[in-house]
Amino acid sequence: MFCWQCEWTKNGTGCQSLGNCGKTPQVAALSDLLLFTVKRLGGAAHLARTIGSVSEPIIRQVDRFLVKGLYATLSNVNFDPEKLSNLIDEAEDLRENLTKNPALSDLSTQPLMKGLSLLERIELGAKYPVNDLASLPLLSLRETTLYGLKGLAAYAYHAAKLGREDPGLYALVEHTLAKSLDPTLTTVDDWLKQALAVGEKNLLALELLDAAHTDTFGIPRPTSVKLGGLQGPAILVSGHDLKDLSQLIDQAKKLGVLVYTHGEALPAHGYPALKPGLAGHWGTGWQNQTKELAAFPGPIVFTTNCLQKPAESYRERVFVLSPVGWPGVKTIEDGQHLDFGAALKMALELGGFTQDQPQGEVTVGWGWSAVLSAAGQIKELVTSGRLRRFLLVGGCDGHGQGRAYYRDLVAQAPSDTVILTLGCGKFRFFDQKLGDLDGVPRLLDLGQCNDAFSAIKIALALAEVFNTPVNDLPLSLILSWHEQKACAILLSLLSLGIKNIRLGPTLPAFLHPDILNALVTGYDLKPTTTPEADLKAILV
Ligand code: SF4
Repeated sequence: MFCWQCEWTKNGTGCQSLGNCGKTPQVAALSDLLLFTVKRLGGAAHLARTIGSVSEPIIRQVDRFLVKGLYATLSNVNFDPEKLSNLIDEAEDLRENLTKNPALSDLSTQPLMKGLSLLERIELGAKYPVNDLASLPLLSLRETTLYGLKGLAAYAYHAAKLGREDPGLYALVEHTLAKSLDPTLTTVDDWLKQALAVGEKNLLALELLDAAHTDTFGIPRPTSVKLGGLQGPAILVSGHDLKDLSQLIDQAKKLGVLVYTHGEALPAHGYPALKPGLAGHWGTGWQNQTKELAAFPGPIVFTTNCLQKPAESYRERVFVLSPVGWPGVKTIEDGQHLDFGAALKMALELGGFTQDQPQGEVTVGWGWSAVLSAAGQIKELVTSGRLRRFLLVGGCDGHGQGRAYYRDLVAQAPSDTVILTLGCGKFRFFDQKLGDLDGVPRLLDLGQCNDAFSAIKIALALAEVFNTPVNDLPLSLILSWHEQKACAILLSLLSLGIKNIRLGPTLPAFLHPDILNALVTGYDLKPTTTPEADLKAILV
């Protein structure tokens, strides 16, 4: 196996015998094989769309699978060989169906994987890792683009579940997958354009998701959230999917089971339609789950990443939804109506918290609407010199000592700065009491990593308010990354021409030095250094 797609990659270079995340060589092979079948299917769909010979409903079915298949290969999502193999079958069936069309007769109609056993698939998949050309800038850019595409696919998957889709976005997915199999596209320029095109369309994916969330659950508003537990039967929801969460809330309410958010589900409390069904929040960043989930007295439902190997102490209490997988853990079947009955029955049997366990409160729900409603006050604070700079400190949390940087930087930020945050990176400082500037809190939680649209919309709106290019705003971006959704967001920021981003705690292993130099020269991309040095440079 070879995998270098996330920040946790072994020795900062690549996981080669066992993933730090728990990915085995077998799972890596099946994941690589799934990615290959998704590329083939995307290539066929791209041709079908170009020729215009296949009906929209058929292409739409393929597109929905493409984003689901890509999502299943994202870090910390699917570790289940059977599920990965089933997805490979699904991809091959869809391709077979597409290529029945006479206009696509040039494409092979013979599926490659049909009839192969799981072992044979693992052997075949072992031939598809990415290290075939590991030293080349071209490969580096191709991988960067594909990782960005995985992130885009995750956002598009959630938006589609709530009825928000876009043919142009799907066309870009198909086109990028087709390019990744085209040996004639061999220039760095081609892939640079494609990477930025993925970043640009990722903005649309984020906008669709924002609209899907706000149309369905209301516009987020600042809301206080209790940390800890309340006496009574309890169920914990981890992951990003708000539709799944809303169905669980409805079913739990009827049985008197209290629903708690974990990790990236925290911002759900800010939505008016979800807040009344939520009891509180339990836990911090995904990397702490082994300890935190063991201490939770009820079942745990993973709607999406980041899943780690469940410890024996709570393995029996874990339930996963598509696209998540871990061998042997209970799966809640996909569909329009999700049945959480077994998980809720377990919650009642376990009884939950025997007494209240209060652990403080935090405020969430500072989406773009809430922040921009204070735009006039913000302008006054900036022009009067009382607000020196916004620091957007957000992204993924993860393992490693280097991530203390983000907590320390926020703690050391002077009192005339406002911290905007999003993603699970905020768990390094989300409970710090930073006070306010004339009523504007100094710590504003914009939401999940899936809410990056809010941050971008706020930056673009403030540029209008101050009548200045976005790069001249009193705003610094200090980002932390772990998985591929962060790659998508970085490409989106670059596609907008946003410069001077600080990225850490380490730079991606898959960025070849030549590509890194191009990003440093063209976009002033910087690695994080120390909180003291970076704050000094930012606040000159
Ligand atoms: S996803 Fe990250 S930790 Fe897991 S195998 Fe790949 S690089 Fe390693």
